[in-house]
Amino acid sequence: MRIAVYPGSFDPITNGHEDIIKRAAKIFDEVIVAVLVNPDKRGLFSIEERVELIRKVVTPYSNVKVESFSGLLINFMKSHNAKVIIKGLRAVSDFEYEFQMALMNNKLDDSIETLFMMTSAQYSYLSSSSVKQVAMFGGCIKGLVPDPIINNVLSKIREK
Ligand code: ADP
Repeated sequence: MRIAVYPGSFDPITNGHEDIIKRAAKIFDEVIVAVLVNPDKRGLFSIEERVELIRKVVTPYSNVKVESFSGLLINFMKSHNAKVIIKGLRAVSDFEYEFQMALMNNKLDDSIETLFMMTSAQYSYLSSSSVKQVAMFGGCIKGLVPDPIINNVLSKIREK
């Protein structure tokens, strides 16, 4: 069974993330979307809320699971018997940081591979932070985040 882990903050999940999940789910037997718990960074959504939002979006994909993790990604991978980390690449600016992380993870455990998937052109400008900014200033986020979560994002922004 080929299991891949797609880690990130997903605060919140965007159409760019969903696109990577959908494509990865066609290649692997199982894809685990792993929401990173970062105690230093309080996001817009709590970790539990992010997991719930992603679960809402991935219901159509039967081989996709959603979980959260803290600590080292490779420990999470080990406990799930996963050997492949999926990363999305948008721009050259993503590359340097991702390259460093991929090498570090491979150094920590050389049975782990990081697989990079190119963003689809129509999502190359999309990030969770840009979505939050647009929503904060009253812009339309349809087409930026998956339809099932648009209202969750709007009400969260209003609440804050
Ligand atoms: P961000 O907050 O920048 O949107 P995350 O940390 O939640 O990103 O991202 C998780 C993963 O998804 C990373 O590998 C990131 O490169 C990838 N990703 C984010 N947005 C996109 C996009 N629009 N297209 C492809 N991959 C993306």
